[in-house]
Amino acid sequence: MNFSNLFLNKIGIDLGTANTLVFIPKKGIVINEPSVVAVDINDNKILAVGNEAKEMIGRTPETIVAHRPLKNGVIADYRVTEAMIRYFVNKVSSKIRFIRPDILISIPAGITSTERRAVIEAANNAGAKNAYVVKEPVLAAIGAGIPINNPSGNMIINIGGGTSEVAIISLGGVVAAHSARVGGDRFDNAIANYIKKRYGLAIGERTAEDIKKAIGGAMPQINEKYAEIRGRDLMGGLPKTVKISSNEVAEALQDELREVIDAIKKVLQETPPELSADVMDKGMVLSGGGALLRNLDQYIVQMTGVPCYVADDALLCVAKGTGIALDNLDLYKKTILLK
Ligand code: ADP
Ligand code: MG
Repeated sequence: MNFSNLFLNKIGIDLGTANTLVFIPKKGIVINEPSVVAVDINDNKILAVGNEAKEMIGRTPETIVAHRPLKNGVIADYRVTEAMIRYFVNKVSSKIRFIRPDILISIPAGITSTERRAVIEAANNAGAKNAYVVKEPVLAAIGAGIPINNPSGNMIINIGGGTSEVAIISLGGVVAAHSARVGGDRFDNAIANYIKKRYGLAIGERTAEDIKKAIGGAMPQINEKYAEIRGRDLMGGLPKTVKISSNEVAEALQDELREVIDAIKKVLQETPPELSADVMDKGMVLSGGGALLRNLDQYIVQMTGVPCYVADDALLCVAKGTGIALDNLDLYKKTILLK
């Protein structure tokens, strides 16, 4: 019998704007589902959370709406956020027995102290013995294997669905940071708008996201890729197919990418010279789902003149970071915001 399983008492939650991941030390990632909650607008009842709720988007009667409670990196609806946290905690607790767990939750860096307390309260209500919150870029850095407690500047760029968070960390503390409301969602929107303007074709969010993942990139390439897209012709209203190239997608994304660059430049400008020199030496680290956009690292190098590379398992850095922080609470106490 494996006794270690009997005493699991730590849960890490990456509460993302697009995806929520639950990490259990020694077990790894046990849940990875969209941060979506389906609500019945007649009686305000919560009908589904996670995968099940996302499946409902666009396929339900008008009386059911799908919420993404953290969509812009702020908590739009406390009740729905709390329901989501409770759902994920209950889901792991039904598979694995916990003795009143310590719960550590990653939160978008732009969140207010009131919102932060609401997250802690939600974790307490879900049965936490101790609840901790840590800002997402810090956990991303820890999960990417960056030695954040060293007396040296480390720069992380975490690009999620709703936000891009840029931070310089040294000696376990955030020296400079900026959170911009641009990320994968706005990339999808930009692609849909481009196709609408150029081809008179209406496409859904999901189709736009599929195109981005299939052929999207930050810079034009010599070897272009193509994708066929189906949508609704805006003139005739009938289904229509068009072919779009990877270079067109890159062009569609330029305005949004410039906002990401602005956020990076802001932080670089606020960085003390000694730490800047460290960043020049070691390079900036990219994490989050948005980091997987093709050539984004090269694009950032070109626009800032600073080396940049994508972390291993970019989508999982924050979740892994919660596990590492939970197992080393003493070491990371500087970055833990509030009990
Ligand atoms: P959050 O932390 O805000 O929940 P994630 O880090 O989970 O966000 O990233 C989600 C975003 O990453 C989505 O916008 C998704 O479309 C995007 N994404 C995921 N995989 C890829 C990929 N291969 N190429 C480009 N974007 C991607
Ligand atoms: Mg995230």
